[in-house]
Amino acid sequence: MTDFAATRRAFHLPQGITYLDGNSLGPMPIAARDRVARMMTEEWSEMLIGGWNRAGWYVQPRKVGDRIARLIGAGPGQVVMGDTLTIKVFQAVSAALRLRPGRRVILSDSGNFPSDLYVAEGLARAVGAELRVVAPDEVEAAIAPDLAVLMLTEVDYRTGRRHDMAALTARAHDAGALTVWDLAHSAGAVDVDLTGADADFAVGCTYKYLNGGPGAPAFIWTHPRHADAAQPVLQGWMGHDAPFAFDMDYRPASGVERMRVGTPPVIALTALDAALDVWDGVALPDLRARSVDLTEAFIAGVEAECPDLVLNSPRDPGKRGSQVGFRHPQGYAIMQALIAEGVVGDFRAPDVLRFGFAPLYNHADDVARAVGTLARILHKGTWKNDMFHRKAAVT
Ligand SMILES: *Cc1c(COP(=O)(O)O)cnc(C)c1O
Repeated sequence: MTDFAATRRAFHLPQGITYLDGNSLGPMPIAARDRVARMMTEEWSEMLIGGWNRAGWYVQPRKVGDRIARLIGAGPGQVVMGDTLTIKVFQAVSAALRLRPGRRVILSDSGNFPSDLYVAEGLARAVGAELRVVAPDEVEAAIAPDLAVLMLTEVDYRTGRRHDMAALTARAHDAGALTVWDLAHSAGAVDVDLTGADADFAVGCTYKYLNGGPGAPAFIWTHPRHADAAQPVLQGWMGHDAPFAFDMDYRPASGVERMRVGTPPVIALTALDAALDVWDGVALPDLRARSVDLTEAFIAGVEAECPDLVLNSPRDPGKRGSQVGFRHPQGYAIMQALIAEGVVGDFRAPDVLRFGFAPLYNHADDVARAVGTLARILHKGTWKNDMFHRKAAVT
């Protein structure tokens, strides 16, 4: 059994805060602060450029990738770190497109994160392909024989709806297409099984449920059957077979390493590596069970005590990730009032209050406090105060 009291103790959670926004930015694992400090004083300070070899900075993207592999149902040597998720989406979709010459359609859904859609649209325009976007529940029916790449985010960032990765991948394969799965709201939140689902490519970020810190690098996974066939479009020197030969010609590294682009963010990877220590004793079935308990309790509590809020997430936990949304026309102001009382979720336009439940550090008492505070704010109309209606740059 996973010891979730111990995982909670591994985080710095500010006094008085109930944090339900780990789906945007995970809290700081205490070990990350010390590990980064040590890296600065013992590695960067003392080793200077020697740190690339002596401190293992050069191989860090693969080593950290191996630790993430276990959390997404992938094998060792199949995941590599670097860049931002947006760039990794481009790497995966463009490589998948090249593996399907003669086909030109990228299919996605309107629940996908805008950055993924922007990337696919720009790529499609550049190479003369077409991006088709349908409603999430129309994806299956839209898989047609002209499809090259099915590009989906498994768990919808706004509603928490979870696609059936195995079923949609099988449908795409039947049509002769490849799949790219974005795990931004899945990795560390649900029991992802890329190998079991027979997916082709996957990408994700590490600053949400994996708690790597703001700007932590993204990951990319390539199924072993494609790893030596996939041709990156962003051909960077760190993805070259011999970066320090400084060849004029590009020759891809073997396996997923070819998906690397440039110099890895060593400080950020060090923080992430420490954050991944927390996962060592965590079993994914326990994680999933706890996530379902937390989201079920929250939905039941809010529906019992806040009749003005409308559930914006699937009711069936099997079709839901680890977050819950509720709608209200004054959602923005209500969320600001909630944050002012120490319960931190976030708001997504036009009217969604979003609550992420991270089993590593959220407990049943967080659910009870969030429900109680929300009910009080709605009952008293606290959100009507002007100060809760001003918009900041980042919501
Ligand atoms: C959070 C998120 C992103 C953000 O991408 P960055 O490049 O890290 O800013 C992209 N796609 C999805 C699906 C996300 O949830």
